[in-house]
Amino acid sequence: MKEPVDHIIRPSLPWRRDIGITECGYDATKVKAITRQSFFERERSLGKQRCAMLTCMTCSDTTKRYGTWEDDPRAAIGREVTWERGEYWGRGRSDRGTLLKEELLAIEALIEAHREEFDATIQENRQRREWIEKKAALKQKPPPKPDRLPSL
Ligand SMILES: [Zn+2]
Repeated sequence: MKEPVDHIIRPSLPWRRDIGITECGYDATKVKAITRQSFFERERSLGKQRCAMLTCMTCSDTTKRYGTWEDDPRAAIGREVTWERGEYWGRGRSDRGTLLKEELLAIEALIEAHREEFDATIQENRQRREWIEKKAALKQKPPPKPDRLPSL
């Protein structure tokens, strides 16, 4: 008898507490599911073929196509928008609930309630990023050439 394969837990938005769904769309609490990191470790240690025998093919393909919030928050939000609105192959669907929509409206309300903190955090993050970029640029610069070679 063939062992049922493991599914892969879809990376979630950082504020979500539920385990959520698998990459292929199952409720991750109802099936055997591993994390994305475990999957990539499994593939490295067992090789692609053996890993494919143990892991859902749709989950494996899908998890390689998408990044996480840590990789790029914009892409993670984009994926959630596409999922919830069901915008695949030019069709929309409405059976995926309204969680993201409710979260975005809550985020809007929280920002309005904490406007100064929000603006200050954006400013701090921007300054930190600029500082890191400057530091990286300095490292790449070759050391200044001496005007003259030292005399022997
Ligand atoms: Zn799956």
